[in-house]
Amino acid sequence: MIERTLILLKPDALQRSITGKIISRLEDAGLKIVGMKMVWVDKEFSREHYAEHVEKPFYKGLEALITMGPVIAMAIEGVEAIETVRKMVGATEPKSSLPGTIRGDYAHVSYGHADKHGIGIKNLIHASANTEDAKKEVSLWFEDKEMHSYDTVHDAHTTK
Ligand code: UDP
Ligand code: MG
Repeated sequence: MIERTLILLKPDALQRSITGKIISRLEDAGLKIVGMKMVWVDKEFSREHYAEHVEKPFYKGLEALITMGPVIAMAIEGVEAIETVRKMVGATEPKSSLPGTIRGDYAHVSYGHADKHGIGIKNLIHASANTEDAKKEVSLWFEDKEMHSYDTVHDAHTTK
């Protein structure tokens, strides 16, 4: 099943200048970028995107980190892309995310450390968690006219 999912390269990924490395991993897996832009999120938009977390104790830190600089937003397409991308991203807490995942390879901080300092977990990337979130998030971030359909070599390889 071909799915679309939303990815955000969070401000910490841009500030560390590793967006190219992260995008390469998605391309290397054969996933297709069908939408892409740079956006500086404000507090209001953060509350929309992270609506499920607004009332949680860590929201203040999360809002601070997602608004601290621009993000790169991408709509990504591929076979069962939602689950595949979450697997590549790894666990939320970098301390627990496995080597080989984006968070596990490029971050290491624990919940305990972040909470002690009253800061959000800088884990580089957001990816939609499930089908419902992916649909909602792709349409929150992208208008239809910002989405593109085109062929990659992977299209041939996934159907023949
Ligand atoms: N987060 C945090 N502290 C926490 C839990 C989450 O700072 O105790 C941040 C972290 O950046 C995470 C984001 O809030 O990526 C959204 O949390 P969620 O549980 O949805 O994790 P994700 O889906 O990003 O893995
Ligand atoms: Mg989430």
